[in-house]
Amino acid sequence: MAITRPKGTNDLLPPGSPKLSPVTSAAAHIWLTETARRVLERAGAQRIDTPVFEEAELVKRGVGDSTDIVRKEMFTVYYFGDHGGFILRPEGTAAIVRAYLQNGLKQLPTPLKLWTSGPIFRAENVQKGRYRQFHQVDYEVLGSADPLVDAEAIALMVDVVRELGLKEVRVKLGSIGDPADREAYNAYLRELFTAHLDRLSDDSKDRLTRNPMRILDSKSEGDQDLIAELSVKPMLDFLGDEARAHFEAVQGYLKDWGVPYDLDPSIVRGLDYYRRTAWELHHEGVGAKSALGGGGRYDGLAEILGGQATPGIGWAFGVERLLLALEAEGVELPQTEGPLLYVVALDEANVPHAAKIAIDARAVARTEFAYRAMKPGSAFKDAERRGVRWIALLGSQEIENGTLSLKNLQSGEQRVIGVSELAAFLEAEKQTSNFSHNPQPTPHNPTPQESP
Ligand code: AMP
Repeated sequence: MAITRPKGTNDLLPPGSPKLSPVTSAAAHIWLTETARRVLERAGAQRIDTPVFEEAELVKRGVGDSTDIVRKEMFTVYYFGDHGGFILRPEGTAAIVRAYLQNGLKQLPTPLKLWTSGPIFRAENVQKGRYRQFHQVDYEVLGSADPLVDAEAIALMVDVVRELGLKEVRVKLGSIGDPADREAYNAYLRELFTAHLDRLSDDSKDRLTRNPMRILDSKSEGDQDLIAELSVKPMLDFLGDEARAHFEAVQGYLKDWGVPYDLDPSIVRGLDYYRRTAWELHHEGVGAKSALGGGGRYDGLAEILGGQATPGIGWAFGVERLLLALEAEGVELPQTEGPLLYVVALDEANVPHAAKIAIDARAVARTEFAYRAMKPGSAFKDAERRGVRWIALLGSQEIENGTLSLKNLQSGEQRVIGVSELAAFLEAEKQTSNFSHNPQPTPHNPTPQESP
């Protein structure tokens, strides 16, 4: 039986593939990541990459023992003779904070804005928009607790989706206060839910002892019904003076800058090291419960990882979710462009000649050649399938004269030029057309397959 890819993973495919969709288009992933890079780097963010696998302990501490991620969804990595203590990363933040501490990055100008992108792994129940290997774009700012940093992070997240062309996004904003505020809230929740223990799901009974706030985040319908019935007070009612002032400052900046948001008291981040601002970005097209991305402040995280106290805040987008949202809004994804020049030999003996011309021309523009000789009719058909702009048919006559007979497949224009003029010709064509020498990847932007 043929071997297929593991459940919940995608192959990212080239243009024209029969099973292509926005989620499985390699070009769409590259374009999306490149767009995010542009927005984030123009705001001063620097690229960072961390390993795809890390010590399990990092994730246990960094994501939290009581989360579904740690309890049910971690992929463990084994290799011969190892202690089995590695996992595939289920998110990006903990590793970035680890890297910040381990590499002495606090010596760089503060606050330090970092960004990354790449594959993330969670052994979840697979459904539309929920995979076991997916991709995130991540932005983290370390070294400042200023509400200005929070507001800027939210504004940048909105900038990225706008630059992608998405319109129907909503920021849902909340605050989870300082640790003492959360303790008070947890005490309130514990009392409230203990009176209805029999109606809680098993997971939530467990949360009641470990971390009652996480009950509000439960995926169980029964839990959600109970929460609605009890008219549970929101965390926002429990904010202390400092957290409230911080939250108001964040909102003030967002209003000043015209970044729209809705207050959402249901936003919870139950872990000890999360502080204050927390938010999610939602889109109608991806379903009510599915966020495009989320973010929050995590001032306690560096210490939990054994480092010096370092305030931090960050967010992550799901790349596949963004692509689904773009599809739902009917936003046309950019097409991969075909070659500017296609060189085809008319006789087998001249194929190496065509190859040499094409390979030289690549110094200037994207150029391909045919590996077999073709008759003009099939050459034109083949060139059309490849999205070629200019085709050069190479016969013995042309080689003798040192010329090229060019035809523009879009306009029908024909030209004869000397081989020595080809570079200048392509250079001029590049200016007048929308073809470019290197339209897609950049060194900053590994394609998903070769991601960190
Ligand atoms: P989280 O780290 O859980 O806040 O996730 C951040 C974003 O990653 C979410 O808002 C989703 O867009 C995306 N995401 C999370 N889990 C998955 C998954 N299993 N499949 C696809 N995207 C996901």
